[in-house]
Amino acid sequence: MWAMTRSWNKIPVEYETVIGLEVHAQLLTKSKMFCACPADYATAPPNTRVCPICLGLPGALPVASHRAIESTIMTGLALNCDVAEQTRFDRKNYFYPDLMKGYQISQYQMPIAHGGWLELPEGSRVGITRVHLEEDTAKLYHRNDPASRQSYSLVDVNRSGVPLMEIVSEPDLRSPEEARQYLTILRSILQFLGVSSGNMEEGAFRCDANVSIRPVGTKEFGVKVEIKNMNSFRAVYRALEFEVSRQHGALSAGDTIEQETRGWNDSDGTTRSQRSKEFAHDYRYFPEPDLPPLEIGREWVDRIRAELPELPNQRRSRLVAQYDLSDYDAGLLTTLRPVADFYERTVQLGANPKSVANWMSGELFRMLNSTGIDISQSNTSPSDLAAIIELTSSGKISQQAAKSVLEHNFRDGSAPDKLVEELRLVQISDEAALASVVDEVVTSNPKSVADYRAGKRKALGFLVGQAMKATRGKANPKIVNGLLRERLEGQG
Ligand code: ADP
Ligand code: ZN
Ligand code: MG
Repeated sequence: MWAMTRSWNKIPVEYETVIGLEVHAQLLTKSKMFCACPADYATAPPNTRVCPICLGLPGALPVASHRAIESTIMTGLALNCDVAEQTRFDRKNYFYPDLMKGYQISQYQMPIAHGGWLELPEGSRVGITRVHLEEDTAKLYHRNDPASRQSYSLVDVNRSGVPLMEIVSEPDLRSPEEARQYLTILRSILQFLGVSSGNMEEGAFRCDANVSIRPVGTKEFGVKVEIKNMNSFRAVYRALEFEVSRQHGALSAGDTIEQETRGWNDSDGTTRSQRSKEFAHDYRYFPEPDLPPLEIGREWVDRIRAELPELPNQRRSRLVAQYDLSDYDAGLLTTLRPVADFYERTVQLGANPKSVANWMSGELFRMLNSTGIDISQSNTSPSDLAAIIELTSSGKISQQAAKSVLEHNFRDGSAPDKLVEELRLVQISDEAALASVVDEVVTSNPKSVADYRAGKRKALGFLVGQAMKATRGKANPKIVNGLLRERLEGQG
């Protein structure tokens, strides 16, 4: 009996992954959430964007930013949420050196928006629990002074009170890959709305990931673990993969999962326990007495809805319809708003839409990726790319030469037509000049010539290649091709 139970216990259990994400996005307002201080906290010298309100001095009274509330309503609508008719702010009490007042003004029971969804690429929907507004904390800098062997921390209050929008998903994601897709789409939506830069590396878009596993077929969720400290999409993905396998290991070994917060460590690729998870009552939430509850009039919501900018999905469909792009290309070009803007500006300058898509998704993306440069910071401008495409389509330079022009232009911003001169890339289309090159190639490659005449069509490609090489890529390949054929097929 005992033995039977044991072997029955050993039947491997298959688990399903359950993930829910909490995203904090800084809003691109000019001023902070509850005071008139400028919100340009990252570029301003430390502690120069402060006032009694964001310093948390006693007696200072907050006033909520209209613009931040509007941005949150926009986001709620774009995420198919219901916008509350009544909303209010609550105090979330806790103590930490970066929290100037000893509490954060947040929203607990009456968020601005709730009950929406976001569609993943395969068409499934991820529920959006809520979208609410709160304020960011100050920034701490931890330092070690080797001389005195002392460690200390510095506080920069500039970030304190910067508007922060929190977007909470339902536990509807089923894999780290789906989590990555969700974040990518959410970031695009925020960027297209113009409400947040969505920049994760700069901390303007942060994600806490909640993950649990449960035996396939069961309804009840497993105990969740919250992971913090990821500052790239890749880190979120890796942290989730690690955590899923850690939980598998624990459950398979007969251990239980403890509800806790774990910190991601990017350098060794693991998560480590930070603290056992606090529960809501630890925060002693109560309505913020210094801010009146807010009625969100339906006319306001209707106006915002009517004025919503084009969202990534809509732009993607429009690019397909307007420029006859494949859905795939249109998808690549609309993941980031600056990329989509770059694309359309180039097309508006007269370049062929399909060529622009090819140059961008090929050469330009490759260079942007390998250098880590943002397209809006790139030396290559839409007019440069349009000029390069015009140089190729008019036959002035070859495809190969155009690549080299783009590379130089990307590196130092030199004008494409100047580069064509400097690099002596003008394509040779003169038949007489090319005829002598072809003669030369035919005489010095008798074996390939014989192969071709014996029916090996592939040999032609090799011979064209030799002619291109002889002209250092400047020969017009179409003309070379025609001349070679004439020579090989004409004379027996
Ligand atoms: P808490 O009170 O701990 O903050 P919430 O219910 O507010 O928990 O959920 C926070 C996040 O955790 C949400 O994104 C939610 O989807 C996700 N979540 C909740 N339960 C689970 C679970 N069992 N597994 C994975 N994620 C979960
Ligand atoms: Zn202030
Ligand atoms: Mg919560």
